[in-house]
Amino acid sequence: MNFFEYRNGELYAEDISIKELVQEFDTPLYVYSAKTLRRHYEAFDSAFEGTRHMTCFSVKANSNICVLKLLGQMGAGVDIVSGGELFRALKAGIDPQKIVYSGVGKREHEIREALLSNILMFNVESRQELERINQVASEMEVQARISLRINPDVDPQTHPYISTGLKKNKFGLELEQAWESYKLARELSNIEPVGIDCHIGSQLTSVEPFLEALERIKSFYGRLQELGLDIKYLDLGGGLGITYDQEEPPHPAEFGRAVKESLKDTDLTLILEPGRVIAGNAGIMVTRVLYTKGTPSKNFVIVDAAMNDLMRPSLYGSYHRIEPVQEKSGRLYTADVVGPICETGDFLAQGRELPRLEQDDLLAVHSAGAYGFTMASQYNSRPRPAEVLVDNDQAVLARRREVYFDLLQLEEQCF
Ligand SMILES: *Cc1c(COP(=O)(O)O)cnc(C)c1O
Repeated sequence: MNFFEYRNGELYAEDISIKELVQEFDTPLYVYSAKTLRRHYEAFDSAFEGTRHMTCFSVKANSNICVLKLLGQMGAGVDIVSGGELFRALKAGIDPQKIVYSGVGKREHEIREALLSNILMFNVESRQELERINQVASEMEVQARISLRINPDVDPQTHPYISTGLKKNKFGLELEQAWESYKLARELSNIEPVGIDCHIGSQLTSVEPFLEALERIKSFYGRLQELGLDIKYLDLGGGLGITYDQEEPPHPAEFGRAVKESLKDTDLTLILEPGRVIAGNAGIMVTRVLYTKGTPSKNFVIVDAAMNDLMRPSLYGSYHRIEPVQEKSGRLYTADVVGPICETGDFLAQGRELPRLEQDDLLAVHSAGAYGFTMASQYNSRPRPAEVLVDNDQAVLARRREVYFDLLQLEEQCF
């Protein structure tokens, strides 16, 4: 459920017409709905009511500081994967005791920064990382709370690029290695093992893989008791899917029920790292039709947004629903929706049924609130789009559109 709806044939974000937003902020434009973000956060967090838990929004899904502040004000923590995300989270006022830090390649300065701000814990993905964190923590004379990321080897049945919990993936530690690493962690002077972590993938459309992972984690946790560690947290990661097209992922309530049931005999504090399920359908990207052209084999709709603005279709072949901002009736035809970038892989949709579009029509590309702007680049020297956050009938420019000056700002005039 979201707050992007048609009123008298015109698409609105909450109480503001998209056309009005475009008049003020131009295209391509990311538009987020504050009400939708709140609703999704609330639905997710309340699914775990009755059990000790922490909902840590995955910053990489949508790192706009206004979005982080909004969620932080609702009590959210965050899952970060870089020093840059830590910087954003702290600027957004997120409580450091609600920050968990994941990722296979934490650099020394990033570790130091996270220790300085006293985050809740590091999700550690290798033995060397464990040793590195210990070394930095001992130099700083602090204790580093950690959990080890287990790779439970379950198939999340999602796109290969976003499967992370299979043996062949670069993420986490296989069970035997994890066992050895917990033993090592126990010996390291400045490491305090407090948790156990996994994240098996993204855009999962069933609870089964989560439950399978939980079973493996639980039995491993049982074994861990032998080591006499004081494990307090079980971090299940993120990954709950959303509806882009025809998918029918479980509602967060159903996901919550199943997870709670699986964990009812433990007294671990549950940590969850949802990203997509909170932000994905809380945002759209608006683009304008520049040209239409037909070739003998295909129809093309050329729009002013491209793969640099929304990379998911090019990267994963993923589906985003596309609809005209002004509702259109009449016969549908099939077209590719493509951007101005000089790559054949630059498309937002392929072989899509659309109403006849004309020059200057506005299109809404749905489900663009997660992994949309955060993946945007300046490829082809295209300034990145603006982001607007709508709340009822108010719109704030959450990030201004980049201008040409921004393209050169960090470069030297060499000659
Ligand atoms: C990407 C990621 C998430 C968020 O995944 P979603 O599918 O957006 O919920 C959570 N945890 C980790 C470690 C991640 O890498």
